Amino acid sequence: MDLMKISTTPRYAPRGAFLFVLMLLISGVVSAAEIPDFEATAKEFEKQTIKDRRWLHENPELSNREIKTQAYLAKALAEIPGITFVEGDWGTGLVAKLHGGKPGPLVAWRADMDALPITEDTDLSFRSTCRDTLRDGRAVGVMHACGHDLHMSIALGAIRTLAAVREDMPGTLLIIFQPAEETGDGAHDMLAAGLFSGENKPRCVLAFHDHPTIAYGQVGSCSGWSTANVDGFRLTVKGQGGHGAYPHRSIDPVSLAAKMVLAFNDIVAREIDVNHHAVISVGRIEGGAKGNVIPDEVRIEATVRTHDEDTRKAVRAKVERVVRSLAESVGAPEPELNYYFGTPAGYNDPELVEQARAVFRRVLGSENVITYPPGMGGEDFSRYGQVVPGFQFRIGVAPPGQENTMSLHSPQFNADERSVGLGMRLVAEVLWDQLNR
Ligand SMILES: [Zn+2]
Ligand SMILES: [Zn+2]
Repeated sequence: MDLMKISTTPRYAPRGAFLFVLMLLISGVVSAAEIPDFEATAKEFEKQTIKDRRWLHENPELSNREIKTQAYLAKALAEIPGITFVEGDWGTGLVAKLHGGKPGPLVAWRADMDALPITEDTDLSFRSTCRDTLRDGRAVGVMHACGHDLHMSIALGAIRTLAAVREDMPGTLLIIFQPAEETGDGAHDMLAAGLFSGENKPRCVLAFHDHPTIAYGQVGSCSGWSTANVDGFRLTVKGQGGHGAYPHRSIDPVSLAAKMVLAFNDIVAREIDVNHHAVISVGRIEGGAKGNVIPDEVRIEATVRTHDEDTRKAVRAKVERVVRSLAESVGAPEPELNYYFGTPAGYNDPELVEQARAVFRRVLGSENVITYPPGMGGEDFSRYGQVVPGFQFRIGVAPPGQENTMSLHSPQFNADERSVGLGMRLVAEVLWDQLNR
């Protein structure tokens, strides 16, 4: 796809267009500020930003261990004119501001920093050979298999692009480099440390995630609920062990656990309104040692995904009811249920989505602006959206023809690197649009 061709202004402008645009300006629908040539400005910083991306990719670090990453980003930011750092207890994160030359709002941009315990299996010249040790002592390879190297470098590129036009830029950009997205506690910890408090509370917060099933050159978005509440439970089903030949002298927790798994499926199928999304998946079930021995207990682990808060609470209450009542029905001891609420669901503010989609269409052409349905995955960007309006979009990174085979969190994940240049321009354009509102 030829992006330059798509983004040129149309040669043909009907006579009524001038009056129409004037009316839109007066009504405040479009911003009066002239849009800088971001295509050319972003191009100036593309090489440098690809260098960043390659360094970050080659030097991945696990959640809350982003020490070298933090130092690299701090140095890169310090070299950008108009940047000040926001002091705070950000752990391995970083917070900075880019100050515009004109009055305007505070708009936040977030990029996450952590990598995954995955051994990279690509033939990239800058592939990671890093290794680290997990808390349980296991030695693992470390890889940016979720593309957070793209998130960080594209953020740097967009900031450089905006800094080049900062005299004309209204307002201030609040830049958040957030650790530990993969463990789900980075956003929580930064907010708890006062990230959005006082004068640092932005009007809105934006971010993107690279997307493996959207082609390079395209961008995706979802209005409203976009990611799920990532909840779950650990359950110990208790019985009374004994000889497999004489089950009537035991209370069989295996049989009871099997009933419970089916009952969880029935909660979703029979008790939740189909218009309110819910998923319960039992991913682990473990108990017993031998086929002819009835064990004392069976352990179950499950993930629960929902979108709205009412459904979230309803599913928990129903799981508690099913577990208790089924145990009681066979005379088993009360099971131990440890139900937890994790990362909350992400909500893309519909107004922000519409505003950004107009920018996407202008930059990429409407045929490259994709709308996708709500997903049941999780992203802790959602926590910022609980404080101020938020929007996380998706930038396509699949090389042409690989939209159906690429996957995040895979040792072979290999993004189309051209998405760096396009991404930094797109992010600069979206932020410029918000800063002008
Ligand atoms: Zn991930
Ligand atoms: Zn990710």
